[in-house]
Amino acid sequence: RRGFDSRAMRAAFPALHREVHPGKPLVYLDSAATAPKPQAVLDAVRRYDAEFPANVHRGIHTLAEEATEAYEAARATVAAWLGSTDPLGDASRVVFVKNATEALNLVALGWAGSRLEKGDEVVLTVAEHHANLVPWRMLAERRGVTLRYADLDAEGRLTFEAVEAVVSERTLVLAVTGLSNILGTSLPVDRLVALGRSVGAAVVVDLAQAAGRLPAPVNGGWLEADFLAFSGHKLGGPTGVGVLVGRPERLEETEPILGGGGMIARVDLDAVTWTEPPHKFEAGTPPIAQAIGLAAAIDFLDQFDRVAIAAHEQRLAQRAARELAALDGVRLVGAGADRVERHGIVSFVCDAVHPHDLAQWADADGVAIRAGHHCGQPLHRRLGLTASARASFGPYNDDADVDCLIATVRSALARFGRHRATVAVGSHRI
Ligand code: PMP
Repeated sequence: RRGFDSRAMRAAFPALHREVHPGKPLVYLDSAATAPKPQAVLDAVRRYDAEFPANVHRGIHTLAEEATEAYEAARATVAAWLGSTDPLGDASRVVFVKNATEALNLVALGWAGSRLEKGDEVVLTVAEHHANLVPWRMLAERRGVTLRYADLDAEGRLTFEAVEAVVSERTLVLAVTGLSNILGTSLPVDRLVALGRSVGAAVVVDLAQAAGRLPAPVNGGWLEADFLAFSGHKLGGPTGVGVLVGRPERLEETEPILGGGGMIARVDLDAVTWTEPPHKFEAGTPPIAQAIGLAAAIDFLDQFDRVAIAAHEQRLAQRAARELAALDGVRLVGAGADRVERHGIVSFVCDAVHPHDLAQWADADGVAIRAGHHCGQPLHRRLGLTASARASFGPYNDDADVDCLIATVRSALARFGRHRATVAVGSHRI
């Protein structure tokens, strides 16, 4: 593996070389929403479309065989990325879906939906992304399942102990985020798995942020969870492909939520039998180009030292958090600037500037940050907020990007602070 140099890495991402306004080069600080794509991904997708644009599992001509081979190889690449010691053997645990949201819906509807009953409990946290909350809420409404939420502690931290405190013998599912897209902090997957096992609960980990931001454990520690979900686009892959990884026995137990071609063993007019996982969950033409693109993104990232990348993103976010917290009238969301387990994400609010105004102001400086509730309305409400601003870092960001962030926030504070009354009238609210 090559050493890691963020400047050199940035060169591989065409979108990062844009100007967003005349004389304003892009400073991209929104990788938690979606990551830019390296040239290798664009090339892999183009190659599929140009050279072997065939459907998979359906033809015996050369193009169909090449497409099938590339699509199936992408599964093994994902299994290896998650730390599998036997990627080919574990490939059948990897289900390609549309995104992390669909993966989590497949677990809630296809697995839990036919097993949980009134009185059974699902443990979540107050920091879940809506993708790992709404499907469970739907289940609660349909089947009378009770949802329990691990809360933040007095300092605004989400801890393993808080999850432990709401788990009981009634818990059948523990569905939690591996890394909060708002707090930017992680929960230890290995301890969650042990906790789930101790009460016989299935452990579902939303890896949407963690997959790209935490170095994968060696020997597949994440793969011990019953289900893992993440999206390709946050790793630099194309949009339109996500991954559900399940333990083999769990996938056997899961009912498909989509029916159609490719997922059946036999169809009669009065009966259907499914084929084996993972194909059982991939009805219709799957995201072929996208899965191939995701594998290219993983191969690209795999050239670099993941521990070094994670440390780099962590250092940038910690520096941003420290410098933002030191500004008058700026508060971090949820946790202090000294959080060592902050992984590349910092959310904050300015007393005098609405996050939407701030994001618009920053955009005029070329700085792309996110504003809103980031699909975490309950967490914002829990903290007495309606919205926040969020800066998130990728391996291609560097200290100059943090400088630009701090400079644009400073200038917004100076401008909006002085004209607070007028701005408040004209500003949009969510
Ligand atoms: N979970 C977390 C923690 C996320 O950050 C996101 C994306 N913002 C999702 C789930 C959902 O991902 P997608 O929109 O790609 O389905």
